Amino acid sequence: MINSYNFVKSVLDSTTESIVVIEPNGKIIYVNSSWDSLGATSTGVLYQGWVGMNYLQVCDDAARENDRFAIKAAAGIRKVSRAEQDIYYLDYPCDGPTEQRWFMMRVTRFSVESSQFLVISHQDITERKVAEEQIEKLARTDEMTGLANRRCFEEFLRNQWKRSARTKTPLSLALIDIDHFKMINDTYGHSIGDKYLKFLSSSFSQLANRPEDICARYGGDEFAILLGDTDQIGGKLVMERLVENIRNLKIPNENAPTKPILTLSIGLSTMYPNKTNHYENLILSANNLMCSVKNSGRDAIAVTSLEKNHGVLNFKSRG
Ligand code: GH3
Ligand code: MG
Repeated sequence: MINSYNFVKSVLDSTTESIVVIEPNGKIIYVNSSWDSLGATSTGVLYQGWVGMNYLQVCDDAARENDRFAIKAAAGIRKVSRAEQDIYYLDYPCDGPTEQRWFMMRVTRFSVESSQFLVISHQDITERKVAEEQIEKLARTDEMTGLANRRCFEEFLRNQWKRSARTKTPLSLALIDIDHFKMINDTYGHSIGDKYLKFLSSSFSQLANRPEDICARYGGDEFAILLGDTDQIGGKLVMERLVENIRNLKIPNENAPTKPILTLSIGLSTMYPNKTNHYENLILSANNLMCSVKNSGRDAIAVTSLEKNHGVLNFKSRG
């Protein structure tokens, strides 16, 4: 008959989950060998003196250093300990010496002869997290151009709106539409059209290079550039230069009814976000301006600014 202690110890040491058993006050009374290895890869030291240490104390010390995962872990362990919940899960990052890793911590409770204990297990979930991050990134990116898609753009705009309302700074939004782009597809073929779109995307994205800016593909041949902390004068300067630079490249669009080159129509709107106005008005305003450029000949920008609620400025420039 196999010795039952050795049997259970072998089972626990053979699992890839890292297991720690603590008393309700946090004192560690058991760790399996996977926990020893995890500790070694996290700290670079093969430390075997875990038993007797206080797990909650370690979490509380890290929490005082503002480690938000340690704050959550300590709170979760205490909830299970007080029987406020039976099981607690936490996904947390724990980088190894050379790679990014993620673990899932699971806390459960058990009793032996009226004494209560908690089992804390840690499972490596890096593969799942990496896959989730890739899916999340794909869901926010336009596949062809690599720019942010409309969903990602609107989320960014919502956050920037709140930030700008707090800091009382202006937000400028340019909606850019390629003039007679359908004619490029019809004249040179769809794959040349794709090449044009990729080229323009990389030119546009160079204009949104601060953390508070974003460049996105808003739809087929329509792009959005949001410039944080940028007033009408600054936004107009950037966009005028863009319209001019693209015009000067003389990219052929020989059958376009306006000019035989690729040109842009841009609506640029600036607002000062606050509690009473809404980010959708910024999009609407930029879109209306862009449409007005289309209706009056293309290859231009139209600008408006709601200057700190003191009125609307409106002007249009053409090359
Ligand atoms: P306007 O000056 O009024 O903007 O004219 P337009 O021809 O640019 O506008 P319209 O909306 O009629 O056509 C947009 C074209 O963009 C039609 C569509 O086939 C093309 N398009 C949209 N997405 C893609 C794409 O991913 N690749 C290519 N090659 N063409 C695209
Ligand atoms: Mg177009």
